[in-house]
Amino acid sequence: MGLFRKGEDNSQLVIIDELKQKIAASEMPAEVLEIAENELTAISRISPAMAEYSIGLTYIEYLTSLPWKKKTEDHLDLNRAEKILSERHFGLGNVKERILEHLAVKKLLLSQSKQPHLLIVDDEEVAVKNLSHILSKEDYKIETALSGAEALKKMEVSPFDVVLTDLRMQKMGGIELLENIKVSYPETKVIVITAYASIESATEAIKKGAFNYITKPFKLDEVRSAVKIAVERSASLSIKGSILCFAGPPGTGKTSLGQGIAEALGRKFSRISLGGVRDEAEIRGHRRTYAGAMPGRIIEEIRRAQTANPVLMLDEIDKMHNESRVDTASALLEVLDPEQNQGFIDHYVDAPFDLSSVMFIVTANVADNIYEPLLDRLEVIEFSGYTEEEKEMIAERYLIPRQIRQQGLSQCPPEFTVEAVAKIIQSYTKEAGLRNLERQIATICRKIAKEIVLNNCPSKSKKVTAELIEDMLGPRKYYFDAATAKNRAGITTGLVWTETGGDIIFVEAAKMWGSKELILTGSLGAVMRESAQAALSYIRSNAAAFNLAEDFFENHDIHVHVPAGGIPKDGPSAGATIAMALLSLLLARPARRDVAVSGELSLGGRILPVGGIREKILAASRAGVVEVILPVKNKVDIDNLPENMKKNLKFSFAESVEDMVDHVLI
Ligand code: ADP
Repeated sequence: MGLFRKGEDNSQLVIIDELKQKIAASEMPAEVLEIAENELTAISRISPAMAEYSIGLTYIEYLTSLPWKKKTEDHLDLNRAEKILSERHFGLGNVKERILEHLAVKKLLLSQSKQPHLLIVDDEEVAVKNLSHILSKEDYKIETALSGAEALKKMEVSPFDVVLTDLRMQKMGGIELLENIKVSYPETKVIVITAYASIESATEAIKKGAFNYITKPFKLDEVRSAVKIAVERSASLSIKGSILCFAGPPGTGKTSLGQGIAEALGRKFSRISLGGVRDEAEIRGHRRTYAGAMPGRIIEEIRRAQTANPVLMLDEIDKMHNESRVDTASALLEVLDPEQNQGFIDHYVDAPFDLSSVMFIVTANVADNIYEPLLDRLEVIEFSGYTEEEKEMIAERYLIPRQIRQQGLSQCPPEFTVEAVAKIIQSYTKEAGLRNLERQIATICRKIAKEIVLNNCPSKSKKVTAELIEDMLGPRKYYFDAATAKNRAGITTGLVWTETGGDIIFVEAAKMWGSKELILTGSLGAVMRESAQAALSYIRSNAAAFNLAEDFFENHDIHVHVPAGGIPKDGPSAGATIAMALLSLLLARPARRDVAVSGELSLGGRILPVGGIREKILAASRAGVVEVILPVKNKVDIDNLPENMKKNLKFSFAESVEDMVDHVLI
């Protein structure tokens, strides 16, 4: 303290004292408490002017601000949960069902683990008695055994949550017992009791899967707390299961369902976006030695939520930056893995934090883009786009009432006619989800709010009709592209699947004098380019079968163009569409624009099955397509679609390019 001037000295003492109190109040686990106290001693010895002082101070403050033991209590009332989920969300039956199952399992397991079952194994009767006595004060059901062999016999009769075993015993020692338990009862946690002299064998036991070890002579509190943690772990591990991953286009309700789950469980809800995360440190934090070091996002979000068991949504896991995928993914694996995350170490915090009671939900647009080892741990639940009818229903029941509330119109709620809602969906949105639709409804509500305030007429409810929509939202933005386009030779309609849902594309082909070149332009990715090459080669090698002159490519160039849309499209399913555009051009037969084609093309002209059928069919309906031609092998996907999705469409199935020609070309 000799380092400080008088005033500095005083105020520093106050600060140190305050920190001491904060540490005491923070309910840190013993090992963190020790770290915090050591750091406090260290900074109390240096001048506040030194950089280490403020780094240490901020660090201790941070440690005390973490919710080490703060948890909200789960509501496990299934009826309440079901009610909340259906109040917030229309449809999504399978997703809700999965969540309710999750709650039911949790409830059952918790009720079973109400009185944890303990087995104490030691060949010294006094030791057994002692331990039983210490632990009998807690609410455990305790049994004892005098050797490993006797313990195994007891385990055959009924399972135990935690086994406390001595190491050296006749008739099967602790290590052998541990090995047997790991094989036959992997859920049971084993705590090894050892004399100081045999700490080495205790660490060997940990390597073999023991949960913890206690050294003799033990302190009572130490035993109680080790057993308590083991009991909690054995219950929470079996409840965990896999991590849910919601995958689907934007606006299909992934986030809001996550919020619904949090509300149903009575937990806090937080989100972290993983899109563009480049550096492992963003997940796991920077070491404190690094200037400007910061904690990682996971621990920071937990701190902000001020609870150790929030529902934490990790958004856009499929958009993590590619180059750093391995590092960031392994950090994430550690975060998500229930076996490892009870001792998650953020580099900044530099002490284990128990993440095992956080409920993680991850989201992605396309599950296939998730890094393989991560995908392995996830239980993917697909969210797909909505049909027009579903959108109308959701707008009427959820989006409009919510916007009316949010824009202050509850006193004189406007009435949206069915036609008006349909017009907004058809003419002002083009999406698989509902984001734009909600935005347009919000715009209308704001305009009405302004009108009410300007004209001072709060009691009159306005009727929003289809005719009024254009006045409020301006000229229509989207048309039924396929239905209204003119049929021409060389232009065909295709269905593709993108991250934002399904979409239609128009493939254009043109022929001119040149030197046998295939020119490819527009929003074609690498796979589409290859499909175009394959389509041309197939037609050239089968020219006679299509009644084309064998030398049609002599002295000509052929140009294939896919006009750019908002989102780059790629994938093999445009192969058949490109082949039809080329045939339409070369045969000079116009193609029907309201017939959409999707299929991968083999060099031999076979049409191979494609993915994303549901999204493609929704896109076809949105664009006013009347007939869809798909590979024969996709018939089963169509059969499995709900009837209302297929209502206005005719379906044909093709095995080869020839099968498609007369459906598409006029
Ligand atoms: P995502 O996370 O998939 O991008 P959001 O959860 O943000 O989608 O949903 C966008 C909007 O649409 C939200 O306002 C949400 O409440 C609403 N929404 C989406 N699906 C449904 C549904 N099935 N029922 C009611 N509202 C929905």
